[in-house]
Amino acid sequence: MASDREVVLQIDAARAHELLGADDGPVLVDIREAWELEQGRIADSVHIPMRELDEKLEPYRERSIVLYCAHGNRSLRAAKALSEQGYDEVVSLAGGIDAWGKAGLPLELPDGLDESQRVRYSRHVLIPEIGVQGQKRLLDAQVLLVGAGGLGSPAALYLAAAGIGRLGIVDDDVVDESNLQRQVLHSTAALGELKVESAARRLRGLNPDVVVSPYGERLTADNVDGLLEEGWDVVVDGADNFPTRYLLNDASVWHGVPVVHGSIFRFEGQITVFAPSRGPCYRCLFPQPPPPELAPSCAEGGVLGVLPGVIGSIQGAETLKLVLGIGEPLIGRLLLYDALAASFDEVAVRRDANCPVCGDTPTITEYVDYVEFCDRPG
Ligand SMILES: [Zn+2]
Repeated sequence: MASDREVVLQIDAARAHELLGADDGPVLVDIREAWELEQGRIADSVHIPMRELDEKLEPYRERSIVLYCAHGNRSLRAAKALSEQGYDEVVSLAGGIDAWGKAGLPLELPDGLDESQRVRYSRHVLIPEIGVQGQKRLLDAQVLLVGAGGLGSPAALYLAAAGIGRLGIVDDDVVDESNLQRQVLHSTAALGELKVESAARRLRGLNPDVVVSPYGERLTADNVDGLLEEGWDVVVDGADNFPTRYLLNDASVWHGVPVVHGSIFRFEGQITVFAPSRGPCYRCLFPQPPPPELAPSCAEGGVLGVLPGVIGSIQGAETLKLVLGIGEPLIGRLLLYDALAASFDEVAVRRDANCPVCGDTPTITEYVDYVEFCDRPG
């Protein structure tokens, strides 16, 4: 008899749909956890999480009941338990809401994401720390990338894929053949083209949700304020020269915008987050740029092709965390990666009370135009 009982304990989606549409149909109970509701629900269902069934299902004892969860496992267990407790007419929706959706039956989706976005960002929505609300935050966010080179390439690709609503990209350079060994945003067909144009085309093709704003110019003391005033939530520093780094640092301190910093050299890279008032700035670590004759030239530098992929991807991860307000950002922490040793290290970095820009008595209060020279291969 047990097998007969099993059969009665679950019904398929089509049958459930039919019963629910009838006059005096069963009560439909969604037994999933609250965070799972973001994936959608079946209309007119009552939400009673599984662990609260004993306490809250009682008013429906005389009704016929259909339970559902995500895939039908929990609801089948619950239906068995309830029938043993004397509920006469309780069944589980076989395959859960998943099977219901796959059968083409209607789902009610919470506000905010359209159907195509639910599919595109489903692997975000499934994470409790992100969910629909987090994805909406990403879609509402604006991130400025300084540099569309080695670091900017993976950062831009992953941020666009993740659904950052607006991506600004500043770079005045054109795509050169020597870039393609690491700058995966660009293709051979884009040789000679402005990097921001090549980037914009690639990113728009990747995700039509993202508004890409290309700025085919160099960051200067004249344009930096106007650019920073556009309301960016985070700036990703993928610059390849000292003047830009210092300009961006000073501007971000004065505009109160966090900067996710990355730099690379040969086999080594480093990442940190400069968050004004929450941690140090770039000048707390390096108050002034080195004299040009001591900085490595671009040609001498060199970089392992995949290295900016690692560092730029971590910059992307830090950016998403800052936008979502989750996890432990790399504020006051400098993460070092050595590709040859295959090791990560971390050193604490502190705000310097004597910092010329973010210290207690700043000595630099307007932009400094440093002589341009190469920092590291971008
Ligand atoms: Zn500082």
